[in-house]
Amino acid sequence: MKKLKVLVVGEGGREDALVALIRRSSLVSQIWCAPGSDGIAQRTKTACLPKLKADDLWGLRNFAKENRIDLTVVGPEAPLVSGIVDGFEAVGLKIVGPTKAAAQLEGSKVFAKEFMSRQNIPTAGFRVFDDPNRAKKYARDSLPCFIKADGLAAGKGALPCRSEEDITTAIEKIMIAKEFKESGNMVVVEDYLVGEEATFMVLTDGWTAIPLLSTQDHKSVFNNDQGPNTGGMGAYARAPVITPDLEKEIMETIVKPTLDGMRKEGTPYKGILYVGLMINKDGPKVLEYNVRFGDPELQPLVPLLQNDIVPFLLGIANEKFPEELLKEGIKWNEGAAICVIMASGGYPGECEKNKVIDNLDRVVRMKSVEVFHAGTRLENGVWKTNGGRVLGVTVKGKNIEEAIWLTYQIISIISWDGVYYRKDIGQKALRR
Ligand code: AMP
Repeated sequence: MKKLKVLVVGEGGREDALVALIRRSSLVSQIWCAPGSDGIAQRTKTACLPKLKADDLWGLRNFAKENRIDLTVVGPEAPLVSGIVDGFEAVGLKIVGPTKAAAQLEGSKVFAKEFMSRQNIPTAGFRVFDDPNRAKKYARDSLPCFIKADGLAAGKGALPCRSEEDITTAIEKIMIAKEFKESGNMVVVEDYLVGEEATFMVLTDGWTAIPLLSTQDHKSVFNNDQGPNTGGMGAYARAPVITPDLEKEIMETIVKPTLDGMRKEGTPYKGILYVGLMINKDGPKVLEYNVRFGDPELQPLVPLLQNDIVPFLLGIANEKFPEELLKEGIKWNEGAAICVIMASGGYPGECEKNKVIDNLDRVVRMKSVEVFHAGTRLENGVWKTNGGRVLGVTVKGKNIEEAIWLTYQIISIISWDGVYYRKDIGQKALRR
């Protein structure tokens, strides 16, 4: 069989992890990553296209056409929400992800909440507003609550409100100062849920959902979930909060009704469906949908996944998983893995770049360690920091305890001026 040429869209740690998975495949001859990064360019079989940005939908499609790309995999949400899949499919190119209409599950919180309400999918109670004063009034009567910008806001558009002051600040930020631009034309005000959060991701061809190992992200910047939200400071898999019974319940009460509902409403969903959940004694409730792999939730899955991921990705793009593949199923290595994000001091606020990273070359040669590049740059053979989240140090252990211990050993070797990371990634799993 002719080997495949694959294009990965994106440039962060998640895309480095995607490339790491795809290049293992014996079905693939060459990977391009647009725009990619200096870190991603180090991987074998891989070439980066630094001038071709993830939001250049025309450029990406032209590249894929001219280079006869067999399969495109999209890392970040923005191109999916802008309709990259529709454009590729219109000219017969195979691509992994939902159409623009289906990507509204992430692109519009109003769409997602109203969809869940129509399909009886468990989620926090809510109301939608386009008028700041009405939103404030309702929020005051529903304290504590969350106020969320409707559209994409890089994970920063959901604001917890515990007082009238918080409400005023949230509405000012989202609807009046328009910090997230037109994403703040409407808001969702929703009940404040308590419990433990977990991430549940599935691969789906629109009909069948193949669950991945459950993971847990750490969104706050400081230990013990304190401080502002970030893109994610670390993740681990498997997450013991999701027991086999709970997984069954999530599949039956959330994943299946989501896929059935999207088909019934004329916007069938194929791709990676990420469900962010709050789990408490009332069962699982959906906090958010994402329409792609989580970053950093994908990273700890890399050392745990046994299968070649490419046949699954092809099944998604073809809108049908082959029977043999479903029969074979997805297989995982024993043990657990964690990914700890090493960030620049100051993240998620302003942070300094261009710091020399010491000892990176020492650790990348170590067995069972994967260091994913999120924000680095190679200058004359020297690795330097180039963003807020810099590296995702990912290690597999025979259990979560060992994985945590090993990861922090590795992290203590790598350093740069002002390096910051959370010290408690994975502790929630230990407490169970
Ligand atoms: P979202 O962008 O909607 O996922 O929200 C970002 C983060 O805010 C989530 O990962 C949760 O930690 C928190 N969050 C969102 N909605 C709620 C809610 N209704 N109750 C409690 N926490 C929430």
